[in-house]
Amino acid sequence: MDTIEKVQTLGEAARYDLCGACGESHRVKDDMGRWIYPAALPDGKTVKLLKILLTNACDNNCLYCLNRKDRDFPRTSFKPEELAYLFDQLYRAEMVQGLFLSSAVHGSPDRTMEQMIATAEILRRKYLYRGYIHLKILPGASWGCVERATQVADRVSVNLEAPRQKWLRRLSPDKELDDLLAPLRWVKHLLEDGGERRVRRAGQTTQFVVGAAGEPDKEILQTTERLYRELKLARVYFSAFQPLEGTPLEDRPATPLLREHRLYQTDFLFRKYGFSPEELVFDEEGNLPLEADPKMVWALNHPHFFPVEVNRATKEELLQVPGIGPKSARRIIKGRRLGRLRTLEDLQRLGAVAKRAAPFITLGGKRPAFQLSLWDALSAKTPHKALATLALPPSELVYYG
Ligand code: SF4
Repeated sequence: MDTIEKVQTLGEAARYDLCGACGESHRVKDDMGRWIYPAALPDGKTVKLLKILLTNACDNNCLYCLNRKDRDFPRTSFKPEELAYLFDQLYRAEMVQGLFLSSAVHGSPDRTMEQMIATAEILRRKYLYRGYIHLKILPGASWGCVERATQVADRVSVNLEAPRQKWLRRLSPDKELDDLLAPLRWVKHLLEDGGERRVRRAGQTTQFVVGAAGEPDKEILQTTERLYRELKLARVYFSAFQPLEGTPLEDRPATPLLREHRLYQTDFLFRKYGFSPEELVFDEEGNLPLEADPKMVWALNHPHFFPVEVNRATKEELLQVPGIGPKSARRIIKGRRLGRLRTLEDLQRLGAVAKRAAPFITLGGKRPAFQLSLWDALSAKTPHKALATLALPPSELVYYG
């Protein structure tokens, strides 16, 4: 294969990894077949990332993956010098501003990682590239490789795929969860204690494949919260399983994107609102209800916290109200110093989604008029029925804040 064919093949193969991207809908494919994604960097800037695999030749047999060993299709690889040169050309032409480099595992995890790290080192030393590099850490990589990756990349990631070994076995029979967790622990140690090792400090991320193994949301979210708390991950990504033709899971139903969306909303509650898994409401199977967002479900199941008087509530109390996010809570606290908030329009002006907040608040001691029917439902202890009245079409789904 020539370089352009390799870019097409290995760029296409990298698109299932969400750890460095803002999402599938933003993907850009130019007429040469390069796959370039806008990605939010740790400092908040958005850049165009070249997202690519070093090789699609894999020794593993993950059941959902097109690159699995038992699938018969053309394999190809970049040499580090070749990929570094290609990236440098794209960078100089201002087509990309960062690199997300992942790979299948060929030969051994360390052998493949050596090549990935060599690519990044050539960029840093030969081409004097100072921009963003995200390196995937391969399952089974040694401490030495992980350490070198943290020295040359701004961000690293390890795909955990599943929250427990039981579920991981149904997706990736060759992998052990402990082998995937070990590098996350090492990276945490390196980031905390990396002064003399010259590690770069943009942190690490991971990704779960959601819905193919039968794992409940509750386990995914309990593991997510522990990853944030114990291993200080910068982000956890969720990828709704989509069956791919030619893989053993091709007949398995796709996971609804709404499930992925609910997981992201809950992740946001952990990171920005300080919610814990124990506070969440799950159905009998341990999954988040799809009918309404998790904060609304929590509010409907905790009526004793409401109504909240917007003119007196603490920031924490405001954040519990559906329709009020961190930004609008800050504005409300600032705005009410200038005068009492009296109407839903006052709230709306401060950035809250007043319609969502209305059933859960009072304004100057008075409940907004249309709140009563919902409150009746709550007092009848039928919050799940009340959910049906609040279900939003997908077009209205928004992240908090
Ligand atoms: S390790 Fe598994 S997921 Fe990764 S490329 Fe190989 S088969 Fe695919």
